[in-house]
Amino acid sequence: MYPQVEVDLKKIERNTNTMVRDLGEKGISVMAVTKGFGAKREIVQAMLRGGAQFIADSRIQNLKKLKDLPARKVLLRLPQKSEIDDVVLYSDYSLNSEIETLRLLGASAIRRRRIHKVIIMVDLGDYREGIRYHKVPEFCREAVRIDGIQIAGFGVNLTCFGGVIPESDTLKRLVEITEAMKKEHGLKIEIVSGGSSSSVYLLYENEGFPEGINNLRLGEVILLGKETAFGKHLDGLHDDNFILKAQVIEVKEKPSVPHGRIGMDAFGNKPVYRDRGIIKRAIVAIGKQDVDPAAIYPLEADVEIIGASSDHMILDVSRAVREYNVGDVLRFGLKYGGLLSLMTSMYVDKVYLEDGSPLSIDEMSVNLEVTV
Ligand SMILES: *Cc1c(COP(=O)(O)O)cnc(C)c1O
Repeated sequence: MYPQVEVDLKKIERNTNTMVRDLGEKGISVMAVTKGFGAKREIVQAMLRGGAQFIADSRIQNLKKLKDLPARKVLLRLPQKSEIDDVVLYSDYSLNSEIETLRLLGASAIRRRRIHKVIIMVDLGDYREGIRYHKVPEFCREAVRIDGIQIAGFGVNLTCFGGVIPESDTLKRLVEITEAMKKEHGLKIEIVSGGSSSSVYLLYENEGFPEGINNLRLGEVILLGKETAFGKHLDGLHDDNFILKAQVIEVKEKPSVPHGRIGMDAFGNKPVYRDRGIIKRAIVAIGKQDVDPAAIYPLEADVEIIGASSDHMILDVSRAVREYNVGDVLRFGLKYGGLLSLMTSMYVDKVYLEDGSPLSIDEMSVNLEVTV
């Protein structure tokens, strides 16, 4: 069935393993972030085979689906009040920045005779979630008095909203505040989480990670082979783990500018066209309902995406050497946004491979022994 995304599990396992190994040498553990692909079980298992020490997702539904996998689970998005019980049941750790939420988590944990571990988020300038640095002591003084929770770590999130690049000095501040809180409250801190795929570049810098950072939460770098502070491909990582395939349903020569008065397109925008004369166009059966055309790129030589409506994507194949016909299948690479929408679309088939070959049924159902 098309459209489909081919997922190479072996390559994802190797990317995970490369990160686990290189960061492990610096004493840094890896939370494998699964939200980029709707936490599909096959891929999560590949990340665990690659040695990831935690599974992390922003949606509790995804962690619930994976509840039988033997790995520590982390909720990345601050818990909603409406999901507190599920957070306590299906995640071992959650990231937090609100006292009120911690009280609810604590109460729910006590009802279940558990202790829920929390990682306190410190905002070091990206201004998405987190407690501002100078407010952390006051926050912790209240948090340590809440029964049912344990402060298991501190973390920072950067480059997500504000685009702030994680620097050694910024991460040092996270270590400093962690040390101060450990001292003040006698906390046993297990995790000091220094960010996401945008922190990975520090591995290759002189300054590097400051002493004391012992965890990163990694999605994109494992999945697409790119660090995200500068968008650089990293040597030794696969960047073709996910390939979109879409099928041609029309090939015709048509003018590149529509004929008639131009009103709004299917999305209420007024389109602007570049006149390239008569062009040879192919339509593939995929559209904005599945993916933003700007979030994928053709892997076929000399094919250009012109645009898409909800269910049709139009390509300029005028300059392509290959002759495209109805029924042909074209391949596309994915950016992170494309991965996100395609992997969670019910209209897109997912096909799992190992090093380019289809998986046999037996391999798909092997039982995993994972030590954590
Ligand atoms: C999504 C997310 C990550 C992972 O980000 P990548 O850029 O994919 O590595 C890490 N931390 C938090 C809090 C997140 O929401």
